[in-house]
Amino acid sequence: MSTNEQALFLPADEVVLTNVKRLGLMGGTFDPIHQGHLVTAEAVRTGFGLDKVVFVPSGQPPHKADRKVTPKERRFLMTELATVTNPYFEVSRVELDRTGFSYSADTVGFFRSQMEKDSELYFITGADAIMEIITWKKLDELFSQCTLIAATRPGFQEKSMVERLERQLKPEYLSKVIPIEVPAMAISSTDIRDRVALGRSIKYLLPESVELYIHKQELYIHG
Ligand code: NAP
Repeated sequence: MSTNEQALFLPADEVVLTNVKRLGLMGGTFDPIHQGHLVTAEAVRTGFGLDKVVFVPSGQPPHKADRKVTPKERRFLMTELATVTNPYFEVSRVELDRTGFSYSADTVGFFRSQMEKDSELYFITGADAIMEIITWKKLDELFSQCTLIAATRPGFQEKSMVERLERQLKPEYLSKVIPIEVPAMAISSTDIRDRVALGRSIKYLLPESVELYIHKQELYIHG
């Protein structure tokens, strides 16, 4: 049975890692997922020669205890809809099925435990999130297991991020944060939510399937 056929018969929470030596983990709340996320993941996959990128929607984001986040099953479904056309993309339920807060170090550890010792892991997320990395838990664990890719939006001051990380991180970790500029990250989840609430079009900002799902489920109409 081929890897693709195996994937069809596996429960949705299992990601096939056979022959995967270089893995990207795309971490985010994805509320909703949009073209900027997809372009970022594909740019990192091709640029870093990754065998696969697994999207990992956050379960209970530790830094968002006070903000209303769309129910996790809906964010998971939107992520599945958005990634289904790319054979190198998969979606993991690992953070959704975990009780308590989702820490990236635990997620990276989960995937690393299923891979060969010499495999390489890249945790991809937004540069704005990485700017707050000093507040993340288990940083030593995280940096010992992966390289971080920070996707920046147009206009993002990369220099100020580097200066900030230089002040906050151990010197040996600085080279393990790689910024990449992604023009498509001009699109943002916040802007999409605001547009829906204002009755404005979100067409072409995200895959059509996700756009239709948002309208059908009446997501974001109250902001
Ligand atoms: P967020 O605060 O919602 O987003 C911060 C910024 O990063 C936003 O501008 C966001 O843009 C962008 N962004 C988020 N995910 C992205 C991605 N995969 N690619 C490109 N840009 C992205 O951050 P979040 O989504 O909740 O968290 C990001 C990741 O960091 C998650 O995997 C989360 O679990 C992890 N994290 C871990 C800890 C910890 O371990 N303690 C703490 C905080 C965050 P959009 O709104 O357009 O996506």
